[in-house]
Amino acid sequence: MRCNDILKRLDAWVDRELPPGETRALEAHLAHCPACRKEALAQVHLARALDELPPLTAPRKLSRQIRQAIHALTDPPNLAQWWRHLTLAWRSAVCGATLAGLVCGAVMGTHLAATLDMGSLYTPYQILYDSGRLYP
Ligand SMILES: [Zn+2]
Repeated sequence: MRCNDILKRLDAWVDRELPPGETRALEAHLAHCPACRKEALAQVHLARALDELPPLTAPRKLSRQIRQAIHALTDPPNLAQWWRHLTLAWRSAVCGATLAGLVCGAVMGTHLAATLDMGSLYTPYQILYDSGRLYP
């Protein structure tokens, strides 16, 4: 291993994340390279100093902001939010289309009820199917 390879792997070595073969090669290099050994010792001391720090608690505001950001990324789009982005013209168009659909459904349902025998237990679909109107 070269010095550059060693320096790139020192973090993993300090955290004991290297595979055994790589660990042996790195430690063999450290045994005969004073520059890398000096850097390795500095990283070991830094890791120990960081381990001795007391655990930190995130400020409430930061924690709340992170949760809101996660929710914004993961929650399905809010219908009210979608509605707010529409202009008045689009809102009117959506309301008109919905109203037209309801009126058409009511008229068609009334017509269907008037033309079919609704006294039976069959659904309108079954009645249409049995009458042969659905599949001539
Ligand atoms: Zn070296």
